[in-house]
Amino acid sequence: MGTGPLIIVSGPSGSGKSTLIRRLLDAPAWPLRLSVSVTTRPPRPGEQDGIDYHFWSMADFEKHRDRGRFLEWAHVHGNYYGTLVDEVTPYREKGMGVLLDIDVQGAEKVRAKCTDAVSIFIRTSRFETLEQRLRERHTEAEEVIQRRLRNARAELARAGEYNYQVINDDLDAALANLRGIIGTLFAATEAAGEKQ
Ligand code: 5GP
Repeated sequence: MGTGPLIIVSGPSGSGKSTLIRRLLDAPAWPLRLSVSVTTRPPRPGEQDGIDYHFWSMADFEKHRDRGRFLEWAHVHGNYYGTLVDEVTPYREKGMGVLLDIDVQGAEKVRAKCTDAVSIFIRTSRFETLEQRLRERHTEAEEVIQRRLRNARAELARAGEYNYQVINDDLDAALANLRGIIGTLFAATEAAGEKQ
């Protein structure tokens, strides 16, 4: 059994990244888990601690960061977000694939530390689609939407740093594309495990 694949998934707000990941995990064809990140932002309605995120105070975040418990962490949209080593390493060692839903800064840090990580960028073919999706969510104030749109432009400019780009104009097509990519990663992991 080889080490399970580490799969970074990034994409701007409104790219449909979370929906795609949820759909992928609803019917997993492989042993795959989503790393639960830590954030200092408040929960949105319906979000559960320990499931959607670990919702921590700034003080707790800084304490664990200083103890080296994060694989990566970043300042995103005015809050801290980070990936705990414990959410990733023990599972990969068991042969499970681990998905990281992280931003472009986090992706850069993980690539530097884990050279076997594979990165996928989710996007739409038109920028206007992102804005429309953000407004349809009705969960954020105008100021927050504007900040997310500015960040989206900055993230899109770095899409070329990723191994794969998946266009999510149509959810089913994007999901099939994503499944295809992940399937090849597991096939490669199994082949490497058999060789050993
Ligand atoms: P949201 O607040 O909408 O859930 O997430 C905002 C952004 O933070 C998304 O782009 C998401 O990918 C990113 N993010 C979530 N968790 C992490 C993390 O652990 N590390 C980093 N670097 N970014 C994260």
